[in-house]
Amino acid sequence: MSNRNKKLAIFKRFADNFKIVAANPYYNWEAPLPEIAYLCPICFNFFNKCSSNQEGQNYLTFEHLPPKKLGGKPDILTCRNCNGLHSLNDRELSREVKLLSFLRNDVGSKLRDIDIQAGDKRFRTTIEKEADSKLKFTLKNQTELLQLVELINNEKDFKFGGDKADPRSVQLAILKSAYLLAFKKFGYGYILHSSFNPIREQLLNPNTEVLPSLGVLFGNNSKGIFVVTNPIHARSLYINFELKISSGSFFAGALIPTPSTNVIDFYQQIKPMTEGKSQITLINIHNQKYLSDKHSVFYHFDLKQYFKDS
Ligand SMILES: [Zn+2]
Repeated sequence: MSNRNKKLAIFKRFADNFKIVAANPYYNWEAPLPEIAYLCPICFNFFNKCSSNQEGQNYLTFEHLPPKKLGGKPDILTCRNCNGLHSLNDRELSREVKLLSFLRNDVGSKLRDIDIQAGDKRFRTTIEKEADSKLKFTLKNQTELLQLVELINNEKDFKFGGDKADPRSVQLAILKSAYLLAFKKFGYGYILHSSFNPIREQLLNPNTEVLPSLGVLFGNNSKGIFVVTNPIHARSLYINFELKISSGSFFAGALIPTPSTNVIDFYQQIKPMTEGKSQITLINIHNQKYLSDKHSVFYHFDLKQYFKDS
């Protein structure tokens, strides 16, 4: 499928979903609604077509979930402005994954722009992990390489330096992908609820602390959307996804509450879980036609159906 047709197909899928959701009396729209509408899931601006109209105007763009560099697919559309807001965070997430892969000794994992301090000399290098935990150093030129070899032979002390990825940026990138993956699965029936405003406000203002925590958890290796049944204060949806680079892959995910929850209280209560090791119990989410069936567009509002036995 060409990019244009793919974009059109996504546009139509969600514009149709919006029509079903908007027709439900649950939402009381004050302003008359456009006939065809795709709302950017982050800023809620309306778009009535998926291409750009004029120079300088905001328009819909492919959003890769997770970021493209980490194996993401262009599954939904966000507006150009919102898409650009998180490019820095996505880059930090990509850096973090590369570092984790390197620390795990994945063959082929690489760290670029690492400074080696040896004696009073400093070298900028790329370090690659080879089989049997061997390290391959790539330097700028042969002179530097020979200098480094000489320092190694003289058994000088070495120090390695490189910037660590910014932890908050990493978490913001994960929360954004999780929120948008929830949108991809559940559509507007899920995200249009006003209780999600703080999440969107956080995504629109990445440099401001709107949410008390970002709900990010690592270390669960199942991919998909789950219902968290325990602990009780963390009952929510858990959106977990794979971050792939050429040397290996990792999983990351974020907790997103259901629409009837007080979002700020929720992220406050789960804050300790996201800072340390946490145990959560997950169950699979029911399979429904969340986007296209008018009886299912609000189905996930009530998670009680999942907690009958607990
Ligand atoms: Zn937007």
